[in-house]
Amino acid sequence: MKYIDIRSDTVTQPTQEMREAMFKAEVGDDVYDEDPTMKKLEKYAAEVVGKEDALFVPSGTFGNQLSIFTHCERGNEVILDDSCHIVVHEVGAASVIAGVQLRTINSDNGVMSPKDIKNRIRKGEEDLHFPSTGLICLENAHSNGTVVPLENMKEISEIAHKNEIPVHLDGARVFNAATYLNVDPTEVTQYCDSVMFCLSKGLCAPVGSIVAGSKDFIQKAKKKRKLMGGGLRQAGFLAAAGLIALEKMRFRLKEDHENARYLGERLSEIPEISLNLDDIHINMVFFTINEDINFREMVSFFLEKGIKINPPENGEFRFVTNYWVSKKDVDYIVETMKEYLKK
Ligand SMILES: *Cc1c(COP(=O)(O)O)cnc(C)c1O
Repeated sequence: MKYIDIRSDTVTQPTQEMREAMFKAEVGDDVYDEDPTMKKLEKYAAEVVGKEDALFVPSGTFGNQLSIFTHCERGNEVILDDSCHIVVHEVGAASVIAGVQLRTINSDNGVMSPKDIKNRIRKGEEDLHFPSTGLICLENAHSNGTVVPLENMKEISEIAHKNEIPVHLDGARVFNAATYLNVDPTEVTQYCDSVMFCLSKGLCAPVGSIVAGSKDFIQKAKKKRKLMGGGLRQAGFLAAAGLIALEKMRFRLKEDHENARYLGERLSEIPEISLNLDDIHINMVFFTINEDINFREMVSFFLEKGIKINPPENGEFRFVTNYWVSKKDVDYIVETMKEYLKK
């Protein structure tokens, strides 16, 4: 049975074109720098985000942690949003791998106050008790589905650089952000020294993320990637799919965004559903249902109808559109929701 899967954009299957490219990929030992397909991907990936160099990593989490590990020294402090992926969903890895302290601040949908950041910057040499701020992390698009305005990134980046602190961008969905803002990805990445983005989410590659930055940064990161066990051998098979993700798939994200908007509009017509259409920036629709619901039963009901959904998190549902979800599928999802709520 073919399911409509709206749990996440991480569930995307590779396209037929990717499968064929992977089958035919020319590969070599990438630890020896001998994988031509990987070299091509890393070169193009750097270009796309306007950085000198880039490095393939197994996952987004790996890429973020490698970036923190490369920018910081043990005992440094990293300033970042309390609700960002690095804090919420990366198993506390920054304390284990880089050995840093995370200094979180509250944000409004990923928008941090530049003043709050400025007030938290510390220089170890100024006070016996202080750690030094080693890095500031931003996230765009934010994992709650909204896009942070470029002006906010610019302000924070200026404060960071005035204090000689680097900026890392968790850009897992940076192409969704650029698509929403209708700008070239380099307009978003110009405010960071390093960026991580995923090939594996809405871009449909089966595995992999990219870290990009200066030549010097990537050279250091490559050594630390090896330390973390991320030196991959004939990884060109993965790079072949990644190339299609970057050459083609990033240009069609608008479709996912339109389908998410359409899904949001149609769901908001259902009286039991509360949903803020202004918060639909990318491919994610968040909503609540104002009714007593047995969530396990609801998930099973949808599954029987051929739709995979996640139960709500803190009372909030998240439906995510992707390449494999069509407008017609959206209509069917809405009809299924109506049918369930009628019961
Ligand atoms: C998915 C995601 C990651 C991590 O990617 P994985 O490949 O799942 O490790 C990091 N940051 C954000 C904002 C994400 O959405």
